[in-house]
Amino acid sequence: MSAPNIDTIVSLAKRRGFVYPSSEIYGGLGSAWDYGPLGVELANNVRQAWWRWMVYERDDIEGLDSSIILNRLVWKYSGHEETFTDPLTECRKCHSRFRKDELHKQPPDRFVRVGVSDTSGLIVSPMCPNCDATDWTEPRPFNLMFRTHVGATAEDDADALVYLRPETAQGIFINFLNVLNTSRRKLPFGVAQIGKSFRNEVTPGNFIFRTREFEQMEMEYFVRPGEDEQAHQEWIDACHQWFQSIGISGDNLRLYEQPKEELAHYAKRTVDIQYRFFPERDDEERHWDELMGIANRTDFDLRTHSKKPEDSEGKRLNPDSTEDLSYFDEQTKQRFYPYVIEPAAGVNRTVLALLMDAYSEKTTDKGETRVILKLHHSMAPIKVAVLPLAKNKPEIVGMAKAIKRSLQPVVRAVYDDTGGIGKLYARQDEIGTPFCVTVDHQSLEDEAVTVRDRDTWEQERVKVADLATYLLQRLTEQA
Ligand code: ATP
Repeated sequence: MSAPNIDTIVSLAKRRGFVYPSSEIYGGLGSAWDYGPLGVELANNVRQAWWRWMVYERDDIEGLDSSIILNRLVWKYSGHEETFTDPLTECRKCHSRFRKDELHKQPPDRFVRVGVSDTSGLIVSPMCPNCDATDWTEPRPFNLMFRTHVGATAEDDADALVYLRPETAQGIFINFLNVLNTSRRKLPFGVAQIGKSFRNEVTPGNFIFRTREFEQMEMEYFVRPGEDEQAHQEWIDACHQWFQSIGISGDNLRLYEQPKEELAHYAKRTVDIQYRFFPERDDEERHWDELMGIANRTDFDLRTHSKKPEDSEGKRLNPDSTEDLSYFDEQTKQRFYPYVIEPAAGVNRTVLALLMDAYSEKTTDKGETRVILKLHHSMAPIKVAVLPLAKNKPEIVGMAKAIKRSLQPVVRAVYDDTGGIGKLYARQDEIGTPFCVTVDHQSLEDEAVTVRDRDTWEQERVKVADLATYLLQRLTEQA
């Protein structure tokens, strides 16, 4: 089972401290969200798992953390100043603004016939999601980059204009030579980065799915031209597998081949990994949306940031760059611009997919419905909760607190005595804690505790001396 819709997760997330609406005491800020005590742990687990998989477990990838604000020229030559736009259209009746392509993703009953074309095909128009009108302005390109300015200059000083980065990738390209030279790498190799990106989205929404401030996990894998297609396919397969390794069901993931007309200006081929974010929609095709994109960016980026390339009249294409980002291949004695394969995932969409996928309900013997978040053990914000059966018995409380302290260096553990044991178990199930350890009267006698499993509710008696080893084994045995 997974969540029936995103709304179920919005309410669980707020109730249990995963994600809160941002700036709520001032009426909020459209589509901005803050990560609470459990959300920050879950997001950290995602980042750490990705970094471990990308950087530590492979021998051909380095890490990087570049600036959010870069020289404006980076965005000029990357093409973002000119082309990082969405088609914006406005409802003439209520003046709400939307992304044209998003309007056209509405269900069929949100379209109205507005005429007949010469070839006798019907002309349909999407209805305004706000007021149902069908009178739209001509779409115009709207640049998604947030603008700000650096230094103590006037706000309208064009020389001071800078952008908040809309992707982390460019920070990697402009550091290509730095990483190459300092790590003495040879092709193929990659550079990974995790960090915030900003896009002034026209229609943000669907909780943390689309926000204006979000976090990306991107890796640029540099290869010889000609080896790009195979490397691309290998990364598509590896990323598809990775999402399953952190507990997302393969049934809720699919690969989507971007058609030529959807491809970004730099891409030769792009495959998205989509998640079933909208299972409640009637039309199965509309269940899916992007979790991650894996693009073959060719040599576009390294070439465009290089000083050498010239046009047919011998004029430099980039007169501002001071470097040539080409690569000299010792094997073939040739110099060329490497091709780049880019797996780019969102931390926030991964968190949402994990929460949706882990959501399940179970009915107790008494007929009560309980929510259980069956998160993969590696993703669970808290691994073990230590609970005293009687909080008014100092020996039991003391023993429980000592056990919590002894576990903490090994696993993320918490102590909780803020309710009866049934309530405490239910609370831990709802936040996805794999194991509860209960200290009872008997524990004082036999130095043993009860370990309860989140998914089966089965209980086992374990000696305190063996507890850390036992828990570590159970936590890591999950496939
Ligand atoms: P979309 O088509 O949904 O706008 P995109 O194709 O522009 O996304 P990419 O540029 O490929 O997205 O970015 C890589 C990843 O960054 C996406 O797969 C997604 O997980 C994440 N991402 C992009 N835009 C947003 C956003 N506004 N809010 C949250 N995550 C985002």
